[in-house]
Amino acid sequence: MFNENNPILKVKNISKVYAEDKNNIVNALNDVNFEIIKGEAFGLVGESGCGKSTLAQIIMNLIPADKGEILYTKDKTEINILSLKGKKMKALRKEIQFIFQDPYSSINPRKKIGWLIKEPLIIHKIGADDAQREKMVDEMLCSVGLDKNYKNRFPSELSGGQRQRVAIAIALILNPEFVICDEAVSALDVSVQAQILNLLRDMQKKMGLTYLFISHNLNVVSYISDRIAVMYLGEIVETGNSEIIFKNPLHPYTKALFSASVNIEDVMLKGEPPSKSTLIKGCVFASRCGYCSEKCLAEKPVLKETADGRKIACHLYNEH
Ligand code: ADP
Repeated sequence: MFNENNPILKVKNISKVYAEDKNNIVNALNDVNFEIIKGEAFGLVGESGCGKSTLAQIIMNLIPADKGEILYTKDKTEINILSLKGKKMKALRKEIQFIFQDPYSSINPRKKIGWLIKEPLIIHKIGADDAQREKMVDEMLCSVGLDKNYKNRFPSELSGGQRQRVAIAIALILNPEFVICDEAVSALDVSVQAQILNLLRDMQKKMGLTYLFISHNLNVVSYISDRIAVMYLGEIVETGNSEIIFKNPLHPYTKALFSASVNIEDVMLKGEPPSKSTLIKGCVFASRCGYCSEKCLAEKPVLKETADGRKIACHLYNEH
């Protein structure tokens, strides 16, 4: 469906350690690699604390990585986002937008909706004059399913779903190419979640967007994503076509997630997660895995392609 030779974003060998002091070290990401193809929705799924938001912030160049590159393709040229500063980064921010979980904390409650949606146009000097910018705001409000009269309201006068529609309008007004949705519907009621996911899908089609869709909720990720990556303790354990993985999960962690529940937070796994203060030598999932062997404790499995095109980091499959 998508041209694999046309990646828009490459996450290459990204590692990140938070070290506030030597007694407080967290290995948040360890050698994370994946590519996102232009036009697809790529889902990143994993339980809370596995490093999803850290990765999102690194991709947006909001926090530094310790190792690795984030390569973004713009006009057929690859740019390492992590090396960009100042004006160059500001220019790229127009292309890469984000939508967060809690619309109330990500939008200024003291500003009216119309101003909030118009502000990015002013910052990036888009539109010939104010009248044109107002017209763009009206059109965007209509696209996200809100009447233009909402321009004069404050965020506090809106429901959670309406506020998330505003957050989507703010993210899309600059006509970006790539949008990171970090738990974008997690704070909403289930019925409203479906409406917002449908809106995101419609906007994707209409504007040709590429999504990185981050969530701990398998239902949400399966609904929107073409391909997924499953993350456990800062490492990708399985990645590939979402339909194939959902129908037949292979990695013991993915299996546990999919067999038990659609909500990762409800999954009961054997054993305890290991401490994040030291890097794990063997498989990151070994302490919780029913199939764990000596090899799993001693040797880290690498992501390896299987016959159906997915990649999996597990000695159960790596040996074949
Ligand atoms: P997720 O988004 O999957 O919930 P995070 O990226 O927020 O995961 O966190 C990954 C790990 O890094 C967690 O153990 C978290 O406690 C830790 N962490 C996140 N941010 C910081 C920080 N600023 N300082 C120290 N540790 C952090």
